Amino acid sequence: MALEDYNRKRDFRKSPEPAGVVRRSGGRTRFFCVQKHLASHLHYDLRLEHNGILLSWAVPKGPSLDPAIKRLAMKVEDHPLDYGEFEGVIPEGYGAGIVMLWDRGAWTPESPDVDAALARGDLKFTLDGFKLKGSWVLVRTGGRYAGARGGGERSWLLIKHRDAWSGELDIAAFAPRSVKSQGDFADILAEDTPAVWTSNRPVKGGDAGALLAKIIARAAALKAGRSAESGGPAVPPARTPKHAGTRASSKARAAKRTPVAPRRSRTAGRGKAGG
Ligand code: MN
Repeated sequence: MALEDYNRKRDFRKSPEPAGVVRRSGGRTRFFCVQKHLASHLHYDLRLEHNGILLSWAVPKGPSLDPAIKRLAMKVEDHPLDYGEFEGVIPEGYGAGIVMLWDRGAWTPESPDVDAALARGDLKFTLDGFKLKGSWVLVRTGGRYAGARGGGERSWLLIKHRDAWSGELDIAAFAPRSVKSQGDFADILAEDTPAVWTSNRPVKGGDAGALLAKIIARAAALKAGRSAESGGPAVPPARTPKHAGTRASSKARAAKRTPVAPRRSRTAGRGKAGG
């Protein structure tokens, strides 16, 4: 499988995303990740390593641990393996917005022939991430969601199987932050250039536009606060709405708590001070 679609959609002089090169990891475990992506709409990109690329689905509402909830998952272009560690700001062009590495780990197909399972439109697999674990299935809907963007051929459903890792916990709300930086969208933007969209935001209207406007304000405040602390230019920190601080810190506490169940604590103690 090649990455022509991936490369065609992007201008790598303008995007910090990695260029598309097919690269086999060589390891016996298969990498998976979920990237939370605030672009024209907030969505979660599920990516599964297969034959040197990342098979990719965009899940608008994100994965659900509840087996009764089927989440629409739109099949999108294969991504390069290197994309799996990407987190950052795409200033313009395709996918412009903020990408957070929301979960990562290993995945195991539950049937030996992944290509056959994809062709059949029924891929069962196990995830071993920080947030997502246990058995899942991706089922092609066979055009029943023909109204969805790109038509029915691309529409699949992501469903959790009932097991020790299923439940009613809203994992996206409970563990909203990055597994890479422990930051939220504003932290990620503040690492980059919060002013990047002063004139031309990737999304203005709707829920995503409102969310992005808040994130830009918070990122600018974070950055201004940091440069004041470090003796940089005396820019007064922009005012953050009172409730935003409270909400962010309660989210930070939630993210620092063990998300689902006891685990080997690879994340323990890595939380950013002050979140
Ligand atoms: Mn995306």
